[in-house]
Amino acid sequence: MSHEDCIFCKIINGEIPSAKVYEDEHVYAFLDISQVTKGHTLVIPKVHTKNIFETPPEVAKELFARVPIIANAIRDAYQPLGMNLLNNNERAAEQSVFHLHIHLIPRYGEGDGYT
Ligand code: 5GP
Ligand code: ZN
Repeated sequence: MSHEDCIFCKIINGEIPSAKVYEDEHVYAFLDISQVTKGHTLVIPKVHTKNIFETPPEVAKELFARVPIIANAIRDAYQPLGMNLLNNNERAAEQSVFHLHIHLIPRYGEGDGYT
């Protein structure tokens, strides 16, 4: 179920190109176009849901179940020292794309540019 004006739905269906990190029947993960650190990745459900407030638990369950798998794939590829997970919901919380997404932000120690 895709939302016609949603850029992340367009990324899932290939209308907008992306650098794929992981994909299965429920989830798509790709590099953020604006890398706050090397390997900054977004994990999204394939079903369109605006944000955490509108997400059915079953969709959240499938999404969050993939996060450790994707986090480890990023860790293997980029060798960060740590990783932040971030999820913004609604404009007041700096959500700018209204398709639920989890940021995976690899951390490389002091001076990695992310504050
Ligand atoms: P938010 O601020 O909604 O939590 O994060 C949205 C994220 O989506 C931003 O970090 C932004 O860089 C990323 N983004 C926006 N448009 C695109 C796009 O077309 N491709 C990719 N790969 N990332 C995007
Ligand atoms: Zn969408």
